[in-house]
Amino acid sequence: MSASTALHIDWTRCRGRGMCTELLTGLGRDEWGYPLVAGGGSDLPIRTHDVEAADDAVALCPVLALSIRPARPTR
Ligand code: SF4
Repeated sequence: MSASTALHIDWTRCRGRGMCTELLTGLGRDEWGYPLVAGGGSDLPIRTHDVEAADDAVALCPVLALSIRPARPTR
């Protein structure tokens, strides 16, 4: 996996238990426990040191709401 990947959150599946926010420091949490990506949107760019945590989050999300996909280019 390269640095140009992102953790995608499928909001239609997420149940806001917040487990992924415990694994990834780049994710905040709203008042209901749903993950928040800094800057908005549903894709968290995966930094090199977060690759393992992102893989763990995908594997552990109980509703399969997380996936890893190519990051969108920044402008
Ligand atoms: S682990 Fe899955 S269900 Fe839980 S908050 Fe994260 S994306 Fe949502």
